[in-house]
Amino acid sequence: MKKILITRKLIKDSEDKAQKIFEVKLNSNDELYSQAKLIELTQGCDGILTSLTEKMDADAINKLPKSIKIISNFAVGFGNIDLEAAKKRGIAVTNTPEVLSDATAEIGILLILGACRRASEGIDAARLSNWKWSADYLIGKQLTRSRLGILGMGRIGQKIAKIAKSLGMIIHYHNRSKLSADKEQGAIYHDSLKSLFSVSDVLSICCPATKETVNLINKQTIEYFPTGAVITNVARGDIVDDEALIDALNRRKIYAAGLDVYKNEPNLNPGYLKIKSAFILPHLGSATKDTRIAMANLAIDNIDEFFNTGNCKNIVN
Ligand code: NAP
Repeated sequence: MKKILITRKLIKDSEDKAQKIFEVKLNSNDELYSQAKLIELTQGCDGILTSLTEKMDADAINKLPKSIKIISNFAVGFGNIDLEAAKKRGIAVTNTPEVLSDATAEIGILLILGACRRASEGIDAARLSNWKWSADYLIGKQLTRSRLGILGMGRIGQKIAKIAKSLGMIIHYHNRSKLSADKEQGAIYHDSLKSLFSVSDVLSICCPATKETVNLINKQTIEYFPTGAVITNVARGDIVDDEALIDALNRRKIYAAGLDVYKNEPNLNPGYLKIKSAFILPHLGSATKDTRIAMANLAIDNIDEFFNTGNCKNIVN
């Protein structure tokens, strides 16, 4: 029986499933392991089931025992793992695509609604009972007939596009490659960031965090947007230069921001705290019970498939 380390506590059904297939080292206290402790715990293991809280950089990967053949990440994103370093060590890295797309798209839409319709301010006022209705009280931005720019029209981006279209938004997108017409569903392709941003009344960031996308939203690219645009990010914090976005919010170049993710989670850049139009969530994209179980089951199945066949359809390196 193969032996695996599961670095974070999973929903019980998933831990039970893993224990039927593997000899498992669980983390019942859901402790955040230091790199040194994680490496120590992998001794004697054949695989690791990691979460985005484990930073598997080259240094950590090079210290893993030779017995480790797979790192199965409990996420579709894999910015926490150095794929090249793993490849050099002959370690396969897998992810959990598709099963979390619906739940994450829901949060993507919540960010758009929350930022455009001033939900943070509204919630604060309602809780304090200190508001008074008037014809111009907490006027927000209407989604109907607004242009939604999607940066990264992949699995999640396409689902957000479909829901946003049903809300009356006009969809534009940028990927490095244009999609086929059946995937585009009438969305308008832009071959550059500048072209997309210049028509985005609202932006939804849905691309992965990679070397190419780090700080794509920065001092220079923010100027491409129409004044009063809204920027939302359901992908990864690394894609946004927070200082540049905070500055643009303060000078009202950008009307509002909706963020499910941000740099240095869980520590929010304090600059956002003073901005009433910032609608910010604590990385809730895939946080539904069904989705978390489906993700964990897929992460377990990825390891099983890998050890049974020597391959796995969800290898990303
Ligand atoms: P996906 O299907 O691979 O889609 C990613 C899209 O981004 C593709 O259309 C890709 O098109 C585009 N892209 C990649 N690099 C790009 C670049 N340099 N410039 C412009 N577009 C680029 O991935 P997904 O399943 O939709 O997930 C997307 C991301 O969402 C994940 O990587 C993850 O970080 C994040 N996520 C967050 C949460 C959360 O809890 N908030 C949950 C799930 C996922 P091209 O290859 O043609 O460029």
